[in-house]
Amino acid sequence: MTESRPPGPAAEDGDVSSDWSPATLVVASGRPARAPGAPVNPPIELSSTYAVSPDDPARLGYGRADNATWEVLETALGALECGEALVFASGMAAVSAALHLIPIGGVIVVPRAPYNTSATLLRELEAGSSGAAHEVRWVDLSDADATELALVGAAAVWLESPTNPLMEVADLPRLVTSARKQGALVLCDNTFATPLQQQPITYGADVVVHSVTKYLSGHSDLLLGAVITSPDARGRELRDRLRQHRTRHGAIAGPFEAWLALRGIRTLHVRFERACANAAFLAQRLAAHPAVCRVRYPGWGAMLAIEVVGGQAEADRVVAATRLWLGATSLGGVESLIERRRRYPAESELVPESLLRLSVGIEDAADLWADLDAALSAALR
Ligand code: PLP
Repeated sequence: MTESRPPGPAAEDGDVSSDWSPATLVVASGRPARAPGAPVNPPIELSSTYAVSPDDPARLGYGRADNATWEVLETALGALECGEALVFASGMAAVSAALHLIPIGGVIVVPRAPYNTSATLLRELEAGSSGAAHEVRWVDLSDADATELALVGAAAVWLESPTNPLMEVADLPRLVTSARKQGALVLCDNTFATPLQQQPITYGADVVVHSVTKYLSGHSDLLLGAVITSPDARGRELRDRLRQHRTRHGAIAGPFEAWLALRGIRTLHVRFERACANAAFLAQRLAAHPAVCRVRYPGWGAMLAIEVVGGQAEADRVVAATRLWLGATSLGGVESLIERRRRYPAESELVPESLLRLSVGIEDAADLWADLDAALSAALR
């Protein structure tokens, strides 16, 4: 099957400078070409098929292979992660496509408690559910020495830093370098950190994965994923395979979702800055709260986890007692969410029953604190 680009208003990023900072790139990338009368935003291309090109009748021109609205989002994501992006129907579609790049039967080094649905796919690879079994080495990524030992002979490493929800942080530059020395394929889920915090491809990673559902789109109104590959020859070969996977498996984004995500990205920098400031403020307050026995906060980012004094019942009561924080799964939106992660049967047993994951939003920090403080105090009474 030919996988070619259909005609359409492709992204024109000719005016975007590689010197610009991410705060500028989120605003300037993926815009239509500047021309008199041109729109400032790209159109939404709603077309499942494209007219045959007389110059190249073998060209497919089909909506499962390509779409101009995906392309503008891909341009922006590629600029932010210093690589070349492909958008997928969801974060899990992106994770699944990326895991398909791992050589069959090879050793994979993975975090001991990654995002639980990624963990389920990794356990399937370990069990050989879809063919040859892989040896999967589950490690504490925050222990760089132990991770380096596990990397010996590895075909691939799956990185997630911080991990969801234990907030374990890896020394990414060190681990990526070690993995590359071993010849391992380096894949990194950068959903929690965002490219504003770290750009794994600049450390030498081959592949970055995002749940675009989260910070990148930022408004909890869509599901979308992305895989970004390094801009070198090795990355380009991986990108061709990922693109083929997307077309064949059909894990494609809706053009409207892609457009909305691009609109969300325009404010990523200001949203993330505010959410990070709120998280830093809350982490400090929470550490001194008598109802909290542990705060897991890396010192940056807008995600944190707390362990509540007591167990499951006390943690559930905190969630039920909040009025501003919403008891819901997901993260990275403008609104603050709170969730007890062990409510999922698939969650790792390393995650304490009393752990609450907090996705800090952009509301007023004092209001967020007052609500959390009241809920924590009420739940322990
Ligand atoms: N990766 C991480 C770290 C996540 O937290 C999630 C979802 O919570 C995903 C991947 C999957 O993303 P999606 O829900 O968009 O499929």
